[in-house]
Formats: sequence, C-alpha cells, structure tokens
Amino acid sequence: MEGALIARDRVGVQDFVLLDSHTSEAAFLSNLRKRYQENLIYTYIGSLLVSVNPYKELDIYTVTQMRLYRGVNFFELPPHLYAIADNAYRVMCNEYNNHFILISGESGAGKTEASKKILQYYAVTCPTTEQLQIVRDRLLLSNPVLEAFGNAKTLRNDNSSRFGKYMDIQFDFKGAPVGGHILSYLIEKSRVVHQNHGERNFHIFYQLLEGGDKDLLCWLGLERNPQKYAYLIQGRCAKVFSINDKNDWKIVRKAFSIIDFTERDIEHLFGIVASVLHLGNIQFEEDSNGHAIIRDGTQIKWISKLLGVHLSILQEALTNRKIEARSEEVLSPLNVDLAFYARDAVAKAIYGRTFTWLVNKINGSLANKVGFWSSKTVIGLLDIYGFEVLDTNSFEQFCINYCNEKLQQLLIEMTLKAEQEEYELEGIEWEPIPYFNNKIICDLVEQKHKGIISILDEECLRPGEATDLSFLEKLEEKVGDHAHFVTRKLADQKTRKSIDWVDFRLLHYAGEVTYCAVAFNFLLFLLFQVLCNSKNGILRDCFLLSELDNRRRPETVATQFKNSLTSLIEILMSKEPSYIRCIKPNDNKEPGMFDDLLIRHQVKYLGLMEHLRVRRAGFAYRRKYELFLQRYKSLCPATWPHWHGPAVEGVERLIKHLGYKPEEYKLGRTKIFIRFPKTLFATEDAFEI
Ligand code: ATP
Ligand code: MG
Repeated sequence: MEGALIARDRVGVQDFVLLDSHTSEAAFLSNLRKRYQENLIYTYIGSLLVSVNPYKELDIYTVTQMRLYRGVNFFELPPHLYAIADNAYRVMCNEYNNHFILISGESGAGKTEASKKILQYYAVTCPTTEQLQIVRDRLLLSNPVLEAFGNAKTLRNDNSSRFGKYMDIQFDFKGAPVGGHILSYLIEKSRVVHQNHGERNFHIFYQLLEGGDKDLLCWLGLERNPQKYAYLIQGRCAKVFSINDKNDWKIVRKAFSIIDFTERDIEHLFGIVASVLHLGNIQFEEDSNGHAIIRDGTQIKWISKLLGVHLSILQEALTNRKIEARSEEVLSPLNVDLAFYARDAVAKAIYGRTFTWLVNKINGSLANKVGFWSSKTVIGLLDIYGFEVLDTNSFEQFCINYCNEKLQQLLIEMTLKAEQEEYELEGIEWEPIPYFNNKIICDLVEQKHKGIISILDEECLRPGEATDLSFLEKLEEKVGDHAHFVTRKLADQKTRKSIDWVDFRLLHYAGEVTYCAVAFNFLLFLLFQVLCNSKNGILRDCFLLSELDNRRRPETVATQFKNSLTSLIEILMSKEPSYIRCIKPNDNKEPGMFDDLLIRHQVKYLGLMEHLRVRRAGFAYRRKYELFLQRYKSLCPATWPHWHGPAVEGVERLIKHLGYKPEEYKLGRTKIFIRFPKTLFATEDAFEI
C-alpha cells in the first residue's frame, strides 16, 4: 500500500501528470517499472487508469478493499479499478447521467479480468433486494457462458476473448442493478475451422467433450476424445494446464439454468456445437468427373439428425452450387477444394450466428423486468480488442485496428472536451493544445464512396470479376495519394489468382501495418437454404429466408462492422467516460518481469503519451479548495488547526505563506490549478521540514 498521497522515488508517482516537467517516454516507463516492482499495478494519468498485468494474485480485490473505496474521493486512495468504478457510480447516482468505462489493451493485458472485477465490485457494493439477487447472479453468470463460446486459448492468452464486448449495467433510481444488455462485436469465426499451432478452438468444444455426461455425448454422436475431431487438433494442444474444462463445463451448465435457458434451447445449442465437430470430419474425394463426393456418410447422418435437415438435401448442398444458366437455375457440382471451402464456410456461419443468438438470449434474461417503471441510468463496460500487428494481418486485424482508431479519436476528443469544459466552468482561460488528430485515418477507412470499406464493398458486388489486383488498382486510384496509405507492389502480384488476398499498408496512429488478406466471405446459396429450413429452433432464428431475396443488396462484413462501430461510438458519446488502459508486461505470462521494449510499444499503441500531453498541457494538478486545504493546512499558522472562512481564502493564505509564484497556479471557481508538479512536490516536502 502506498504511503503519502504523492509519494515518489521508490514507488514512483501515482499520477503521471506529476512526473517532472518534461513528459518523456523514458520517464514514463521508469515510473511504471518502479511501481510494478512494488506490486503497484495501477497508476493514473489524471482520471485515466493505467494497469499492468501482475500475472499473480494480489491481495487488493477483497471485500474489505471494495468497502474501502466505496464513496471515497477519487484521489484520496491509491489508484485502483475500484476508484474508477466507484467514481462512475457515484457521479451517476448524484447526477442521474449515464457512464461508460472503456477498457483497452492488447491480448493478455488484463481487460476481461478488469471488467469482471468491476462487475463484482458493483455486485458486492451496490444496494440490492432479494428480488434483485437474481439479476445480480445473471449479470455475473453471463460471463462464463459468453467466455465458453467466445474465448479460446491462444499463444498470447489462455483465456483470450475472441470477440469485442460492450455491456450496459442498468441501475434504478436507488442505485441498485436491475438489468443489463450486451452487444458483441466481430467474433473470430475463422477459429472454428482453423487454429495455429499452440492454440485451441473455442473452449465450449473441449468443455462438452470433457464434461458432458455419457448419455449426452451418445445422443450427440460424439466421442470423448478431442483427438478424434479435425477442428480440434490443428493446434496440437487440446489439453491446457491452466484450464479445467470439466469444472468449467459444470459452471456453464449451472449458468444456463440461472439464465433461463430451457432444456430445448440447450438441446438445440449442443446439437449445433456437435454438428460443427461432425462437419469438420467430413472428407471429400473426387469422382471420375472431378466432382466432389462425400467419402463417408456417418458424419452427415449425425448432422442431419441434430440439425433437423433432410439428409439428401444436405448432401447435395455440400457438393453443389446453384448457378443461373439461360435464366434457369441449375445445379453445378463443386470440385473438392470448393467443397471443403463450403464445408468450412457453413461451420463458421453456424457458429458465428449461434453466438449472436446466445448473446440475444442472455439479453432476454438480463432485460430489466423489475424496475421498468423507475428511471434508469447505466454504466457501460467496454472490453474490446487492442491494436493488433501480427506477422500476417488479415481482414480481422483491419477491423480491429480501425476500431482502435475510432476509439482513440473518441478518447482524445472527449479528453480535450472535458479539459476545455472544466477550464470554462472554473473560469480559467483555455489554452489550445496541439495534438495529432487521427480523423484523417478514420476517413481513409470509412468515408462514403472514397474510403477503403466502400471500395471493398464495390468489389464484393462483382464476384467472379473482382480480383486482388483489381481491388488494389481501385485502392490506388481512389486513395493512392493519401498520406496514410501505401500499396505494396509484390513481385509475384501478377501470378496470384485468388480474389481473397491483397496487400496494402496503412499508417495508423499507433504505427504502420501491412494487411495481407481481405477475405470475401460468402456462403453458398444452397447451404443457406438448407439452414433456413432446419428444424433446429436456433438455426431457424439465425438464418432467415428473407435474406435470400436477391433484390436486397447484401451488406458486407466490413460494412456491418463499420455500422456497428458507428452506433457504438454514438452510444459512448452520449455518456460520461472513464478509461482503463491495460498493459501486458511480458510475453511469457510471468510475474515480476517488465519487458521494456514490449511495454514501450504498448504505451505508443495505447496513445498514452498523447493523452498525457493533452492532460497536462495546461495545469498538471487541480484540487477542490476544501480538499487542498484539508491536506496542507498544517503548513501555515493562519490555517492550522482550523480555518473558519471560505476555503478559497484559506487556500490563498496558505499558498501565500508557502511562496507560490503567480505563474505557478490559478484559482478557479471551486479548485486550485497548479501548473507544474514541482510546486506541489515542494509543498509535500514541506511536511518533512
Ligand atoms: P484478450 O484480448 O486476449 O481477451 P485480455 O486483455 O482480456 O486479453 P485477460 O484474459 O483479462 O486478458 O488476462 C489474461 C490473464 O492475465 C488472466 O487469465 C490472468 O491470469 C492474468 N491477469 C489479468 N489481470 C490480472 C489481475 N488483475 N490480477 C491477476 N492476474 C491477472
Ligand atoms: Mg479478454
């Protein structure tokens, strides 16, 4: 635990705005390292919280700690998640406004753990009634279900969230949690059919095989051994030391019953999960005409039973496609490669849409049924993927990084706005701050007609004609001279045939990224039709015949993502912000190891230096007169032990006595603003004299 509020040296400063006058990256890192080595994983930049993953259990999340932070002024205790959570909650209760807490950082940095700890904080400290207990349990138990279906072991994190999540917690006028709502973003469907070495598929597959009872597995036609399933063995690590699939299965099963899933829902849900595994085991071979045929009918029989689709129709749909010839629709047989493509596409589509169904189902059970008549306010928790640069950056990284551009823009704009508002409110002159506005990059991606997504959409509407080269040429023509865009002309560009791959480079605010793949996702018409006619209730909800209406211009995945991001930003803009930036200290998941280089990259990706510059461009420190006086009154005979007049006058007497120079501070309506940290440190040091 930290001693003096503004202690430094051994444990560093607990607010980066108090770092010595220049804000260098080296000083920033040194402060972070000092604190990390003392197990002080949290540090502020003003009201933003920086968190470094300790990779070990710390004794700072107890109920006693929660109570300590309850109702205490933000800066009176050492930095903590709970201070952020409590501050948002208190302001919400006092001012009846909505809030959000944006948690970002790279994979393994601790975002999901932070969001769970905040939820627990509210579950423990908010008022509740017996009637509301169920809401609380559902809010907490929605996590294991979503994690089972949406998280997986990756090389970077054994429990990596493979989707973005925004969760609103709804409160009634007494401040009790009465409901919730979840939005999910871009589940990583490609994982269903492919995993890199050392990675797994989504947890639920292993949980079901390990934990499901014999009768259930028998009903689903599954064997217990994950090695039997092609979709589970590519990463060669079905068993993970840190994960107890059997136990997790029990938690998920219990959660289902509390979240109101019927036995029928569960039956349909696991029918789908099992069908995905059966699909992965389907093999095709070539007949004498070079057409694909299914090698062994066992799997397809199980799928037909579990999904309630006609066996022969399913078989036909997996090996044919519908084409128009002379205004007639005819079946055209697929070759083996395309049949495998179709099989994987259907597995991904089923899983992806089932995940969306699951989120909707959970939302139904979290819907506020208790206090719908009472006025409601919300606190939203956003746990979203950080900026990503991999060896090969695909369409998914493109979306993730675009999302980060938007959120960075939001952070800077909202911070500037908040600073400006505070200055105006306090009657202090606003000094414009120079900063890098990344709107130019957002526009490059999302602008109508001219942006990369629009160009991608156009190309998607020309299947068969569009190629990687034509896409690249279009990009060059429309955005080629943009300052943040570079195409990479590969020597072998001309020889590449597929329309799936294209190379271009974007100069993001956080650095340069080369994107090597843009996947044009399509699901064959026939398979779509089969799924629409399924007897499985979940699939029938997920695949609607109306989508097949070819008069409707289909939305591409990129456009869907852009639209969902635009509405997310709108949701956030209407709320009061809090920010948590999570940092991963090393790549080995090891406690106590502070990898300078890795952390320096993240400080950049997270936009922390830019935020710090904006935050302390004017005045590094500000406090309400009462709080300032309370802390330092003993340093001046006129204010000690009691000051009876207005606090502002007490502060004036105090700083006069301490010899503050006019350029060092300003007095606002309710707060004192101190320009340089050194002024404050001198005051702190005066205690020791
Ligand atoms: P991803 O983007 O891959 O989902 P993430 O940022 O959500 O990553 P988490 O799953 O929250 O990362 O954290 C990864 C692991 O780090 C956790 O499983 C846990 O072992 C450890 N960890 C994270 N935060 C803490 C913490 N505050 N205390 C102790 N361990 C932590
Ligand atoms: Mg996560």
